[in-house]
Amino acid sequence: GGGTGGGGEDCCVKVAVHIRPLIGDEKLQGCKDCVTVVSGKPQVQIGMHSFTFDHVYGSTGSPSSDMFEECVAPLVDGLFQGYNATVLAYGQTGSGKTYTMGTSFKDGSQTALIPQVVNALFSKIESLKHQTEFQLHVSFIEILKEEVQDLLEPPCISKTENANGHSGKVVVPGKPPLQIRESSSGVITLAGCTEVTVTSLNEMAACLEQGSLNRATGSTNMNNQSSRSHAIFTITVEQMRKLNPLFQANSNPESLNEEYLCAKLHLVDLAGSERAKRTGSDGVRFKEGVHINKGLLALGNVISALGDEKKRKEGVHVSYRDSKLTRLLQDSLGGNSRTVMIACISPADINTEETLNTLKYANRAR
Ligand code: ADP
Ligand code: MG
Repeated sequence: GGGTGGGGEDCCVKVAVHIRPLIGDEKLQGCKDCVTVVSGKPQVQIGMHSFTFDHVYGSTGSPSSDMFEECVAPLVDGLFQGYNATVLAYGQTGSGKTYTMGTSFKDGSQTALIPQVVNALFSKIESLKHQTEFQLHVSFIEILKEEVQDLLEPPCISKTENANGHSGKVVVPGKPPLQIRESSSGVITLAGCTEVTVTSLNEMAACLEQGSLNRATGSTNMNNQSSRSHAIFTITVEQMRKLNPLFQANSNPESLNEEYLCAKLHLVDLAGSERAKRTGSDGVRFKEGVHINKGLLALGNVISALGDEKKRKEGVHVSYRDSKLTRLLQDSLGGNSRTVMIACISPADINTEETLNTLKYANRAR
C-alpha cells in the first residue's frame, strides 16, 4: 500500500451480507424465504444457525442503497490518502454478485457498486483538482483455471463461417496468460496488462462494457453466464499534490513541493462458490471447479488470518502464494489496505445448503 501508518483500525476486513429478493424462477418453483434478519441488528438467521456481520443489506436488513456509503465510500476516500483497497463479492452462482458489483455492463444499473465508485471518484477529483493533478487507469482481468487473462485486450477471436453462414470453428489464438510480478517494495503488477488511462466517467464505463463483453462464458447446470472465473476491475489513482511552498521554507524547492501518491482499488466479482459437484458436468469442467476452489480456498485462508488479531500479532504466515487470486491481491489485502467482503445470498429454501456455506465462509473472515 502507499500510505504508512494510520491503518490501525479495529480490523482491516469488514464483512457485509447482501440478501437478494426471491427471483422469478424461485417464485415459480414455489420456494420459501428461509433467511431471517434480526430486527435492528446485522444478524442473519437460517434454520437453527445465527451469524453476525458488520452489516446486513436487503430483505429486512438495511436498504442496499446504504451499502455503498457504509462499505465502499471509505475505501474510495482512502485511495486519496494512498491506501489500496479491495471489495470482494462472494457467493454461489445466482446469488447476486454481479448485480451487486456491477461488473456486467448489461445489468450495470446505477445502484450497483462500480457505477457508484466511479461517480464518487470523479466528484472527489473535481473537488481537489485545484491543488492536485490526477491520472486514472483502469484494468479489467479475469482469472480462469489459475490463468490471468486480459479483458481489455482487443478481441482476438476469429470465426470461420461455413457456406450457410453458420459459425463453425472458433479459433482463439491463445494470447499467453499474464504474469504476476512483485517489485522490491512489494508492489504487485501484471506484466503486459492493458491499462487504459481514463479522463471521464464515460471512458471508464466504456472499459467496463468492453471487458464484460470479453468475459469468458461457459455454461453449467446452474447458470450459462460465466460463473467459473474471478473478474477483477481495478482502478488506479495517481496523484501529484502541489504542496504550499510557504510551509517548506527549508526544503529544496525543486524536489519537495510536490507529493506523489498512487493507490489502487480492486473490485472483485468472485467465481461461484458452489461446489464442483453441483455443476454436475464432465471431467474438464470439474477440473475448472477444482481450480476455482483453489482461489476461494486461499482467499478464505488469507482473509481469516488477516481478520484474526491474535494470529496477526504472532506474525502467522499469510500464504498469498497459494493461488493467483491471492497473489494478485497481495498488496491490497492486509497491511495498510482496506478490504470489504460482501457475501451475497439467495433467500430461497432450495439454496439453504449453499447459503449456509457462504455465511460460514464469510463468518471466518471476521
Ligand atoms: P451471480 O453473479 O452471483 O451469479 P447475478 O448477479 O447474476 O448472480 O444475479 C442472479 C439473478 O438475480 C439476476 O437475474 C439478477 O438480476 C437477480 N438479482 C440479483 N440480486 C438482486 C437484487 N438485489 N435485487 C433484484 N434482483 C437481483
Ligand atoms: Mg455473476
